[in-house]
Amino acid sequence: MRLLAVSKTFPSDAVALAHAAGQNAFGENYIQEGVEKITSLASLKLEWHCIGPIQSNKTRQVAEHFDWAQTIDRLKTAQRLDQQRPDHLPPLQVCLQVNVDGGSTKSGVSPDLLPDLAHAVAALPRLRLRGLMCIPEPAPDFEAACEVFGRARKLFDALNARGLQLDTLSMGMTADLEAAIQAGSTMVRVGTAIFGHRS
Ligand SMILES: *Cc1c(COP(=O)(O)O)cnc(C)c1O
Repeated sequence: MRLLAVSKTFPSDAVALAHAAGQNAFGENYIQEGVEKITSLASLKLEWHCIGPIQSNKTRQVAEHFDWAQTIDRLKTAQRLDQQRPDHLPPLQVCLQVNVDGGSTKSGVSPDLLPDLAHAVAALPRLRLRGLMCIPEPAPDFEAACEVFGRARKLFDALNARGLQLDTLSMGMTADLEAAIQAGSTMVRVGTAIFGHRS
């Protein structure tokens, strides 16, 4: 189980403190804010994950500064990241965001389009497809949350059965991480329980 500390809205000092306590991987939603922290903390050996929406005009900043991008839900975004990833950096590690609870306005690729997208992204040379992430709506209870997270786990297992080598299933936040772990999460993304409430 990996722990991603979600540091959005908290200052670089808070990230440095968490690092001093042993935490290495941090998640940011807002790309500009993330790039500022990445730059100011460049002397620390941190791993930065982009977990917010990536508009086309932001792909270059993600490709040049982040280690991971977890919210890819269409091929166009992946292709731009692939083209813009600088040669001197290792491949950008990516997860596909999948919409497991069907909200039509929500981001995330639908499960039926997922296999084609996954195989197309896996073929891009400057990206390395690591797995899936999801952000389901809050569920009414633990069982319901496990059921929704379980859909993501099934999709993840099915892709691996079809020849992909995925090792990351990013799901679970402060409010629902127990259910996500129960359902087979390999990476929880925790903000509030580490840094406190965001204003
Ligand atoms: C903010 C955020 C988190 C962390 O949420 P908490 O409830 O503070 O733990 C995790 N994942 C994503 C995508 C987020 O936007």
